[in-house]
Amino acid sequence: MLANYHTHTIRCKHAKGTEREYIEAAIKKGFKILGFSDHVPFPYPNGFVSTIRMDMNELENYVTTLLDLRKEYKNDIDILIGFETEYQKRYLEPLYRELANYPIDYMLLGQHFVEDEIHGIYSGDPCYDEKGLSDYVNLCIEGMKTGLFAYLAHPDLFHFAGDETTYLKHMKRLIQASIDMDFLLEINIHGFLERRHYPGNLFFKTASDMGARFIIGCDAHDPSVIVNPEDISLLYNFIKINDIKYGNNILQGLKKPFYK
Ligand SMILES: [Zn+2]
Ligand SMILES: [Zn+2]
Repeated sequence: MLANYHTHTIRCKHAKGTEREYIEAAIKKGFKILGFSDHVPFPYPNGFVSTIRMDMNELENYVTTLLDLRKEYKNDIDILIGFETEYQKRYLEPLYRELANYPIDYMLLGQHFVEDEIHGIYSGDPCYDEKGLSDYVNLCIEGMKTGLFAYLAHPDLFHFAGDETTYLKHMKRLIQASIDMDFLLEINIHGFLERRHYPGNLFFKTASDMGARFIIGCDAHDPSVIVNPEDISLLYNFIKINDIKYGNNILQGLKKPFYK
């Protein structure tokens, strides 16, 4: 059964299309489950305004819009309401307090910043500093340990530009932690289609050799990225050359939300 748990909306300020267009695209491609997981709004202090996520006051509209669409499309597809969020320790508690008021189905972990959006660097920028990589891995592991997240989105988002040995020294810690916790690592279609540095062969070959488990996520910021992975031959090759057992690992491991 086709499912995608990684879908954004225009509220994050860098995606396009209406929710309805994402849903229609998913139905057309044969998906049975479509999970929205837009960038969560953080209750930042001192009026800090993020340019890559919805504002706190859009939360209500996000949830009610999806609840209405869930009802409307209930005979065609299951619509889930989630968020993608960083493990940003100092802002998590007020965030969860706020989210507890809404019927959220799941949360994805996506560590876009080290250590957080206000005090840190973007994980996707090239970085030669071993400490940046090490901190990224530590945050992912801590986040996974909380048990709050369904899976780790684009696990190799951190763009370490230094040597391979140092890269693997730390990424193997992340991979091993995911195996110990039976935590799924995402093969990110958005990054793949845009020819970004992730998903990368080195990370995924190492992860599959070590015995990690995977899930495919569209990470759609555009309805056209709601695609059946089997229709992308280059992605099929990526999966094959990295010895990932495609087909075994698409739907497993989605956890219910932490606060119910
Ligand atoms: Zn995004
Ligand atoms: Zn992301």
